Amino acid sequence: MVAVILLSIATFVSTFLGGLFAIKFKDKLHYIMAFAAGVLLGVVAFDIFPEIIRQVNIYNFNSVEVMIALVAGFLLFHILEKSILIQHCHDEECFTHHKHPNIGIASALALAGHSFMDGVGIGLGFQVNPTVGLLVAIAVISHDFTDGMNTVSLMLANRNTDKKSKLLLLLVAITPVLGAISTLFFHVPAKFLVLYLGFFAGFLLYIGASDILPEAHSKQSSYRLMGLTILGTLFIFTITRFI
Ligand SMILES: [Zn+2]
Repeated sequence: MVAVILLSIATFVSTFLGGLFAIKFKDKLHYIMAFAAGVLLGVVAFDIFPEIIRQVNIYNFNSVEVMIALVAGFLLFHILEKSILIQHCHDEECFTHHKHPNIGIASALALAGHSFMDGVGIGLGFQVNPTVGLLVAIAVISHDFTDGMNTVSLMLANRNTDKKSKLLLLLVAITPVLGAISTLFFHVPAKFLVLYLGFFAGFLLYIGASDILPEAHSKQSSYRLMGLTILGTLFIFTITRFI
């Protein structure tokens, strides 16, 4: 139990540092977002999908149900984001730039929900045995830096203030700790977890391809930006080889 709480505090630090990094280098936000888009692709392809396939094989789940969850994650966020634009944009400027502070907040809240599940993952890992728990924790801590980075990038890109971005960063950083503590009180069925993974993969694919990547290229495209995206994917590929 002490290990679970200590490791979830490490996720807090990792997420928070990622967010501060994005605030510090906000004049380089385009480069950060190009890298982050690659990271998201890598997380979906080399982290989430292999885990889904593993769980589907172990429990003999119906893979179509997981894919429905993926489509739901993609479409739900798409609908949410565009509905915010329809309801809050009253001028052409707002529509053409596809940006609104509330979209940043909705994205940050979705990342907070995910971070809660990161914490749940650590707790559940330790319920299996300490080795599994530690492996999950390493996976979570190493990618949480990018969770924090994405939270701040999406907040700032949608024209939120530094102060509000830090507030949402704090929320995203604290939720893994809450998620880890929650596993001391309740049990999460494997079926729910695999559906969550599908749903989250859909969400990541959407924000990666529809928000973060277009934002990275919104001023101008360059080979450097494309290189950073490839680097982001390779980064996650490399990390996931070791865990
Ligand atoms: Zn995470």
